[in-house]
Amino acid sequence: MTSCLLALRFIATPRLSAMPHIDNDVKLDFKDVLLRPKRSTLKSRSEVDLTRSFSFRNSKQTYIGVPIIAANMDTVGTFEMAKVLCKFSLFTAVHKHYSLDQWQEFASQNPDCLEVNYICLDVANGYSEHFVEFVKDVRKRFPQHTIMAGNVVTGEMVEELILSGADIIKVGIGPGSVCTTRKKTGVGYPQLSAVMECADAAHGLKGHIISDGGCSCPGDVAKAFGAGADFVMLGGMLAGHSESGGELIERDGKKYKLFYGMSSEMAMKKYAGGVAEYRASEGKTVEVPFKGDVEHTIRDILGGIRSTCTYVGAAKLKELSRRTTFIRVTQQVNPIFSDAHLT
Ligand code: 5GP
Repeated sequence: MTSCLLALRFIATPRLSAMPHIDNDVKLDFKDVLLRPKRSTLKSRSEVDLTRSFSFRNSKQTYIGVPIIAANMDTVGTFEMAKVLCKFSLFTAVHKHYSLDQWQEFASQNPDCLEVNYICLDVANGYSEHFVEFVKDVRKRFPQHTIMAGNVVTGEMVEELILSGADIIKVGIGPGSVCTTRKKTGVGYPQLSAVMECADAAHGLKGHIISDGGCSCPGDVAKAFGAGADFVMLGGMLAGHSESGGELIERDGKKYKLFYGMSSEMAMKKYAGGVAEYRASEGKTVEVPFKGDVEHTIRDILGGIRSTCTYVGAAKLKELSRRTTFIRVTQQVNPIFSDAHLT
């Protein structure tokens, strides 16, 4: 009898392990939830403090500011953007394509805007062993710099990167406005759930995370903070402004700015002489209606988050995630006039 059972198990095991696994837990995006209002003693949104201070786990550096970051894309992370954002205590992750001369000129004219003790290590797939080794190496060479590393979407990889020396983990695979990774590869993770799970993993080790990509309106930024993000990185929401990079186009009396992913054919042609034969582009190019000065958009985003805080009774941004209850919804906004509005 016993030997018969053993034999059966022997046959069954290989078939079971070969079967793909389905995680049946529902994972959510920003669009799937709203924040539940809560009783509050706050009288006005002007009482809300959006400044946060952090002490980083590995670099031991401290940070004080409003934790929103312009993405390190050449259309968004420009010197012009940095000049405006630093007035609001926001970060700009300056893109990597400026020359040394351009850096020297910017640094000499804007010494107050510079934070040179941060390093952003950004790869499309933060899961490779090679990347983990690279993070360890950079940590060894720059023991006191604050290292941001990513992108990943799951807790175990957040932990591995923090233990390898990173301070702040970039979270997001596939949510970006000009990202085509999910279409090209089928890989991704709904951003709200990714942020909740990764924040939990990071905070358990006294690390921090950036919610990177997927925000389409100020409410999404508030949801990312509510889900536990320490920082939120924005690309598309900051595209199309005077300070953004990308060609300005005029057609039928209307102005547009080109905005493209850093793995798009457009970017790869510009910087790498084209798309390598073995790979597909994982980004696209869009024309964004010209939106004028970014200052207006920044005020709109910060005003929105302050208002979120008053709705849930958070006097400080720091309290937002503790005061957050998400409600699952099937509709966020009334769509009746969604295509036609003046301002
Ligand atoms: P957004 O705020 O526009 O939704 O997302 C910005 C983020 O999209 C960036 O910070 C970066 O992580 C990601 N991203 C930028 N360019 C590309 C690209 O070409 N392909 C992919 N997969 N992601 C991109």
